[in-house]
Amino acid sequence: MEVRVGEATLELCQGDITLQQVDSIVNAANSRLAGGGGVDGAIHRRGGPAIMQETDARYTQGCPTGSAVISTAGNLPARYVIHAVGPVWSGGQRGEAEQLAGAYRRSLELAVEHDCQSIALPALSTGAYRYPMDQAARMALSTAVEFLKTHGRPKLVRFVLFDAAAHGAFTAALESLAEEFRL
Ligand code: ADP
Repeated sequence: MEVRVGEATLELCQGDITLQQVDSIVNAANSRLAGGGGVDGAIHRRGGPAIMQETDARYTQGCPTGSAVISTAGNLPARYVIHAVGPVWSGGQRGEAEQLAGAYRRSLELAVEHDCQSIALPALSTGAYRYPMDQAARMALSTAVEFLKTHGRPKLVRFVLFDAAAHGAFTAALESLAEEFRL
């Protein structure tokens, strides 16, 4: 599914984020930028050791939850990896929604600051961090729509969902947002 937001395109697809031919891909990182499973494991496996060498050298304090930092992309087809730190779900009353929105917003800002025309993002926090998929989908997409309405860039924002359940949840959330925002 895809919608237009002004001059930009917001689209959903099912697949592996490491294979995306876009200017930047977003990693589901942890706040120590220490490496893990899921998206992070796949990115470092395919991208090679240069990515971790760079983040270790540039971001010695890691990255706070709700924010993101950027590096080059090693052997990946993308130019940059944006390492975003979403919240661990602990019931929804501990600022998780704001932190998730912040991680997406900062990722999109970094892409614009680095002149990226296109960005691919995963469903941050919905794996090991256990954020409920339906709520995560709505927060991810509404943050992207608001960002595109304000900034008009990046020209292509693609959410890459790993399995059919995630793709279904994002599709339902985008259909309802498209109606609300008249996209
Ligand atoms: P977090 O720790 O933020 O929850 P995970 O990497 O564990 O991050 O999971 C985030 C989401 O990314 C999950 O929905 C998971 O199914 C999905 N995912 C895992 N591997 C990939 C991949 N290679 N490409 C896209 N999405 C992926």
